[in-house]
Amino acid sequence: MKVYKFGGASVNSADAVRNMAQIVQKHLESEPLVVVVSAMGKTTNLLEKLVPGAAKVEDTTVFRQQLEEYHRSIATALMPGNMEVQHKIDALLADLDHLCATLPPNVEHYNYNYDQVVSHGELLSTTIIATYLNSLGINTLWADARQLIKTDSHYREGRVDWSATEKEIKNLELRIKGSCHVILTQGFIGGTANGQTTTLGREGSDYTAAILAYCLDAESVTIWKDVPGFLNADPKFFNDTVKINQIPYNEAIELAYYGASVIHPKTVKPIQNKNIPLYIRSFITPDSEGSAVGNYHTISPETPLYIFKNDQILLSILPRDYSFIAEDNLQVIFGLLNELGIRVNLMQNSALSFSICVDNNPQRIGVLIERLKSMFRVRYNENLQLITIRYYTQQVIDRIVAGRPILLEQRSRTTEQIIVPCK
Ligand code: ASP
Ligand code: MG
Repeated sequence: MKVYKFGGASVNSADAVRNMAQIVQKHLESEPLVVVVSAMGKTTNLLEKLVPGAAKVEDTTVFRQQLEEYHRSIATALMPGNMEVQHKIDALLADLDHLCATLPPNVEHYNYNYDQVVSHGELLSTTIIATYLNSLGINTLWADARQLIKTDSHYREGRVDWSATEKEIKNLELRIKGSCHVILTQGFIGGTANGQTTTLGREGSDYTAAILAYCLDAESVTIWKDVPGFLNADPKFFNDTVKINQIPYNEAIELAYYGASVIHPKTVKPIQNKNIPLYIRSFITPDSEGSAVGNYHTISPETPLYIFKNDQILLSILPRDYSFIAEDNLQVIFGLLNELGIRVNLMQNSALSFSICVDNNPQRIGVLIERLKSMFRVRYNENLQLITIRYYTQQVIDRIVAGRPILLEQRSRTTEQIIVPCK
C-alpha cells in the first residue's frame, strides 16, 4: 500500500482540491491508496481563535463565520446542488458550536479544549474531500483518525500508543480488503482510549502519514507540497535553491532537528525503522520527480544545506558570585528550561557564563529570565538569526554572514552554526 499526504496548501480552494483529486485518480492501483489530508489552507490558525480559554478573548463571531463560508463555498464549487455534503458540514459545525459554548473557558482546560475544537479543521476538509472523490466515482472510505491513531491524554502533543494504533489500523485493513479505492483520513488528530480527541502537535499531518505507513508496512509515503522537493534552503530566505534528489534518513532527522520545516521532526523515525522510502513531490508539477528520503549514504547532489531561524534570542547566564559555571548551575538552568518547555537551539559555555539561543517566545522567556535572576546575572540579545549550514565551506559562510557581526559560532566537521543580527 502507498500513503499520500496532502497538506493545507494543497487543498486550500476548490481548484486545489480538483488538482489533488486528479493526482489521486492518476495513481490508483489495485490496492487501496491511503490518503491523509490536513485542514484546508489556514483553517487551523482560524480555529485556534475559537478555542474557549484562548489567551486573547476576541469577538469570535467573524472567525466562526469565515470558517463556515470558506468550507461551504469550496463544497458548493466542487459539488453544486449536493445537499448531502452541506448536511455533513451542518453537523460538524453544530458540534463545533456546541463545544465552543460548553467547554469551560479556563486555562487548566485549554489544551483539552484546543484539541476538541481545532480537530474540526481536518474533520471538515476530509468530509468535503471524501464526498467529492465519491462523486467522481473514486470509491472512497472516510476513516476516522480518532479511532485509528491512539494516543495518551497529553493534549496538543498526543503521544502515540503504538500497539493500540497498530491493532486499529490492521483491523481497518482487514475490514476493507478490496472494497474501496481510497482510504481517506485526517492528519494531525488522534484519540485516547476513552474516546477523547487529541492532536499530535502543529504541522503533525506528516507524522500521521508516517504512523499509518509504519503500521501498514507501506511501500512508500509521498508528501505532496508546493515546492518541487527537498530544497537546500527555504525559498523564503534564498533565491537560488538547489533540489536535493536523495537524502539519507539520518540526514533528514538532522535537518528536522536543526529546524528545516520541510519535514515534521517526528516523521522520519517510524519510516526509517521499517525502511519505507519517503517522497516529497510537488502538487503543482505532479509529473516531476521530487526528492526521496531513504537508505542512501550521502545526499545527492552534494551541496551545502542551509537552515535559518529568525527571531532568536541569545541569553548569557553568569553566576552572581563570579564562580565557574559548573554542573550544579547547569542543573538549575536545565531544570528551569525543562519546566518551562523551552527548547534550546544552540548552547555554549565558558568559565564564567553559559549561553543559550532560543526562540523568542516573550511569555516563556520573560518567566525564564525572572526566575534565573534570583541566582544569576542574565544578559540577552534579541532579534537574532541562527544559521545552520551543513557541508559548509568558508566561502559559503562569508556569503551568508554578509559582513554582519558574529555573536556566537560553533563548528563541527559537517555543521557550522552561527548567530548574527537579523538583516
Ligand atoms: N492542520 C494542522 C496544522 O496546520 C496539521 C498540519 O497541517 O499538518 O498544524
Ligand atoms: Mg495545516
